[in-house]
Amino acid sequence: MIPLARNKITVVGAGHVGGTCAQRLAEMEIANVVLLDIEQDLSEGKMLDLVESAPIYGYDTRLVGTTRYEETEGSDIVIITSGVARKPGMSRDDLLRVNVGIVKGVTEWVVRHSPSAILLVVSNPLDAMTYVAHRVSGFARGRVVGMAGVLDSARFRAFIAMELDVSVESVQAFVLGGHGDGMVPLPRLTTVGGVPITEMITKARLDALIQRTRDGGAEIVRLLKTGSAYFAPSAAVVEMAESILKDKKKILPCAALCRGEYGVHDLFVGVPVKLGAKGVEQIIQIALTEEESAAFQKSATAVSDLCRAVDKML
Ligand code: NAD
Repeated sequence: MIPLARNKITVVGAGHVGGTCAQRLAEMEIANVVLLDIEQDLSEGKMLDLVESAPIYGYDTRLVGTTRYEETEGSDIVIITSGVARKPGMSRDDLLRVNVGIVKGVTEWVVRHSPSAILLVVSNPLDAMTYVAHRVSGFARGRVVGMAGVLDSARFRAFIAMELDVSVESVQAFVLGGHGDGMVPLPRLTTVGGVPITEMITKARLDALIQRTRDGGAEIVRLLKTGSAYFAPSAAVVEMAESILKDKKKILPCAALCRGEYGVHDLFVGVPVKLGAKGVEQIIQIALTEEESAAFQKSATAVSDLCRAVDKML
């Protein structure tokens, strides 16, 4: 068992996303890390590999790879990446049944050993899996949050930066709604060095970048041929974990449980939130135009349909 002098993060699922999360967290030295997988030896192997990288990178993060939830005891944050990744031609929704069972089982174990943790869900279909983790854990709504908007926004920002040949750091963008084909990028609130994007790029080009953002996950799946994206997804969830551990209170688009906000009731959907030590500390309400609102509601309806299907499986 690792000492609790530092914060402790458990990453469940030692696949592409989970393993890369563990690497990023280890290198940042912001918490000791436990990597857990159902597959015998997989997380042990990855963590040993990371331990052997430590002298070169100079980190003293304590790292444990395991199949046993006892080792995860008292985690401050648990990142759930366990599940089956999307294969070429497979929609996120095809994954539903398999991943509901996995995320349900994982959450039950996590709650038993880390009753005070904040859960960051990555498994797809994201909004529905976050809903499963919330329902099964019974945790307060601020302590269960899903990663999608940070990734979708990062993709949008990267495409804009490439198009304009500017630093990614100068590009601010927000993508709201469900993590699916109906995600809602908000060009109106997208800026480059504070200048509205609509003044820097033609509508036709902007529409093309929005479409590429919507198809961002599928584009990587097509190129990789086996498995789906993991560098950007792991970076996104680690940014969320850091904001929580350091109580930075970053405003990030995350899947949070809406109870009336944005006209959505009892669903996890991508909205701007303040992420701090208590998890989701606030849902930031911004007035949407009629068009944005219609797109957001359409996306929320798709999430709702998924969650009603999930209800029958739990
Ligand atoms: P992967 O197949 O590489 O890894 C998944 C891991 O989960 C495997 O190692 C597997 O053994 C493990 N696992 C399965 N059942 C388990 C259980 N019951 N307990 C513990 N571990 C278990 O997949 P990946 O590329 O790492 O993706 C992981 C998940 O994240 C997928 O559902 C994928 O669709 C999703 N994802 C989401 C986003 C997002 O934006 N939210 C982005 C990328 C990937």
